[in-house]
Amino acid sequence: MRDIIVAGNWKMNKDHLLTVDFCVSLALDLQKRRTDGLKVIVAAPYPFLDAARGAFGDSVGMVAAQDVSAHTEGAYTGEVSAYMLASLQIPYSIIGHSERRQYHHENGEEIRQKLIRLLENERIPILCIGETLKEREEGLTNKVLETQLQEALKDIALEDGRELYIAYEPVWAIGTGKTATADQAQEAHAFIRGWLKGGYGAEIAQNIHLLYGGSMKPQNIAELIAQPDIDGGLIGGASLIYEDFLAMIDTAIIQAKTE
Ligand code: PEP
Repeated sequence: MRDIIVAGNWKMNKDHLLTVDFCVSLALDLQKRRTDGLKVIVAAPYPFLDAARGAFGDSVGMVAAQDVSAHTEGAYTGEVSAYMLASLQIPYSIIGHSERRQYHHENGEEIRQKLIRLLENERIPILCIGETLKEREEGLTNKVLETQLQEALKDIALEDGRELYIAYEPVWAIGTGKTATADQAQEAHAFIRGWLKGGYGAEIAQNIHLLYGGSMKPQNIAELIAQPDIDGGLIGGASLIYEDFLAMIDTAIIQAKTE
């Protein structure tokens, strides 16, 4: 049985005090709730990861980095390694986000190297994949997903699948207010799980958490996470607003109980 994941991607927003304030409040609110089967993750900016982790304390709130270096260590000014994340006990890192693919020209091999570095350090990659609007309109969605999966996971062995999350994030839905319909999202997630089954076998494919990302908000999360292959969300804009993030957690708690 997979958990329901509510993960916020804060991008380059908030400061130290706002981060601590948000995570302390969330820890208190989470402690008041039944959170079995639920994982809450906040991908805060690098400088605040340790503070966020400390603020979450023993609650079910966990912290993710928004990216990681493809290199192990050395003369890579400005980079942060997976080993450094491990030394701070940061359990997750997003990789392959479309903003990094687009603005930082990250390619499939670089993303694969990042994934390897994270697995070597027993960190869980949250691998983002997704098509542009043009690709969807040209009927290329599955082809794009397949290529991005092949590139990132080439020659990657998985133990049981729990060590990898994949976020399906259609680029046309990120930060645009346009959300994939529940049917469109489920179709893409089913394709991804089918591809994983072909490569890794049914058991491992069933254990990999698949998240939807793209303008998820309190008004649409219920329908999306009710889909059989959608195990939660990677949420950008709406994760910055405390009340919205908590409302989405509450919806996820209901979903976790009904599973
Ligand atoms: C994201 O950037 O991962 C994301 C899903 O953003 P938003 O929710 O704002 O579309």
